[in-house]
Amino acid sequence: AETALLQSEKLAAVGRLAASIAHEINNPLESVTNLLYLARGGTKIEEIQDYLDMAERELRRVSVISSQTLRFHRQSTNPKEVTCEDLIETVLSIHQGRIVNSRVGIKRRLRATKPVACFEGEIRQVLNNLAGNAIDAMHPVGGTLFVRGRNATDWSTGRLGLAITIADTGAGMSAQTLRKIFEPFFTTKGLSGTGLGLWVSKEIIDRHEGVLRVMTSQRAPHTGTVFSLFLPFQPAPR
Ligand code: ADP
Repeated sequence: AETALLQSEKLAAVGRLAASIAHEINNPLESVTNLLYLARGGTKIEEIQDYLDMAERELRRVSVISSQTLRFHRQSTNPKEVTCEDLIETVLSIHQGRIVNSRVGIKRRLRATKPVACFEGEIRQVLNNLAGNAIDAMHPVGGTLFVRGRNATDWSTGRLGLAITIADTGAGMSAQTLRKIFEPFFTTKGLSGTGLGLWVSKEIIDRHEGVLRVMTSQRAPHTGTVFSLFLPFQPAPR
């Protein structure tokens, strides 16, 4: 049973989150209002078109933020058994276009033999975020995306499960960036990032009683970043 104190802490956290989401959504909405005002007063068709294009971009940003947050709150009822191959292949196929265009080579080593019970959509979302970030980090030079899967015992909990590693040969992170990556809305990608990916991923893995670890460096060029993810075979029912 949850203590009243824990519940009030959770409520406070939800309140803070709602405030920061409202803030993030409010900025682009204000720009849309301004851009529509400008478009209305515009005289040349190209000028009006530009304002509308900009407004559309801002709205797309709002929709990315809301869909990332909502997906995270939507919970499926029961964990389902999936294989490591299945999880990874669909995620890689989502990124196929970007992988080809950005000169990224893939090295796979999938040796997991036992399926894992998990909330499939959520785990796909995590892998999706990690792979997307890895590809971003190698832009524009390209590099190698390493994807490994195996059954293992997690050294910190002693539990058996599925260990997945997603590593890149990209830019790596400074110690200062590394400290903040799991905070909501922290991004180094300006307007093209939301800063929600890793925060949501960490929440999802915590709910699976799993572990998400990161190792990175900027000391040598292209040493890149390693994210390792551990999922126990059976998460506790919710
Ligand atoms: P976003 O990708 O929208 O910025 P994330 O929460 O997914 O949001 O990531 C937060 C930040 O963590 C990124 O902006 C980036 O600075 C850093 N980061 C995440 N993954 C990597 C990676 N593989 N290599 C380098 N930096 C990364």
